Amino acid sequence: MPAKRAPIDPLDAHRASLAGCRTCALASGIVPIVSGARDPRVMLVGQAPGKVESGGGQPFAGRAGATLWKWLGRAGISEAEARERIYIAAVTRCFPGPHPGGRGDRVPTPREREQCRAWLDDELRIIRPRLLVLVGKLAIESFLGAVSLDGVVGRELTVTHEGGESLAIPLPHPSGASSRIHQAGHDALLSRALDLLRARYQEVEGGAGRRVA
Ligand code: SF4
Repeated sequence: MPAKRAPIDPLDAHRASLAGCRTCALASGIVPIVSGARDPRVMLVGQAPGKVESGGGQPFAGRAGATLWKWLGRAGISEAEARERIYIAAVTRCFPGPHPGGRGDRVPTPREREQCRAWLDDELRIIRPRLLVLVGKLAIESFLGAVSLDGVVGRELTVTHEGGESLAIPLPHPSGASSRIHQAGHDALLSRALDLLRARYQEVEGGAGRRVA
């Protein structure tokens, strides 16, 4: 009798397909960044990998990542826990190249975002996250449309998407190229957002509510 094969996890199948994606022009010589989180209930959506990440490996491995992990630390979530528990997605999964003005990375075009969107929709369908952490303007706009960051950072909102409905907590982008995070008053909004994140993350991931594998 042939040996029984273990069922294929839909998220693992998704990761394998994403790792091989060469759909758009961003793919040339660049490997899409794929999150390794297991059995996630929380998804974090960023903008796009930077140069550091473009060599392969983990999302948010560079300078912006160091700031993000500090912020998540303020919400009681260590980098190690976040990498293990939170599925890290992005608006585009390949490095868009340097900004032509020389400061930071180029912002992915609407066409590039649209071409990559199917990966995010698939992840939302598979994971059906209870909590979404939206990092930066592009990620926020892809769920909430054109909104002012000041109007949404520090608030929790319900968003609908391919996988149903989730609570969403918007954060500014932690990139050093963003002057916003250094402006007066914005740390108060960020602190409020991180307090909300701490509370909601504990509800979703905490002790008694934790899913048994
Ligand atoms: S940016 Fe997205 S659509 Fe384009 S090659 Fe990378 S993974 Fe594929």
